[in-house]
Amino acid sequence: MNDPELRYQSMLTKLKNRGGRITSHRMALLRLIAVSEGHPNAAQLFEQLRQQFPTVSLATVYKTLALLKEENEVFEIDLRDDSHYDGNKPYPHPHLICRVCRQIIDGDEVSLLGALNQEIRERYQFQVQQSQLVFYGVCRDCRDIPG
Ligand SMILES: [Zn+2]
Ligand SMILES: [Zn+2]
Repeated sequence: MNDPELRYQSMLTKLKNRGGRITSHRMALLRLIAVSEGHPNAAQLFEQLRQQFPTVSLATVYKTLALLKEENEVFEIDLRDDSHYDGNKPYPHPHLICRVCRQIIDGDEVSLLGALNQEIRERYQFQVQQSQLVFYGVCRDCRDIPG
């Protein structure tokens, strides 16, 4: 896991450089993203934020996430019904999604993205700018449940 303080400072700097308004809501949201270990979606971040700031709007969360995504400060996992965000590892990495408990596991120990991008470039003369690798299955915890 990356240092949450460094992640926070990095996100804050990018937003400031874009001239975005740095409100207390936004700063608190960046803190949440920086310490998030899982892959929260906008609604989950909004719920957490609302406990501190009852007046915060869901639009603020979406807008901030969109900016962070443009700046490559979060990695979006675009599922069919919803998007989840990785604020710890803002670079492309594979994700393993359990169909039973819906947890999203980082699969970044598998070092194949670089090789894949290279093969795509060579075979198709296609420059990959963004990649998303999602594997659906059943996680270890769910497989261990008897029955
Ligand atoms: Zn599971
Ligand atoms: Zn991840």
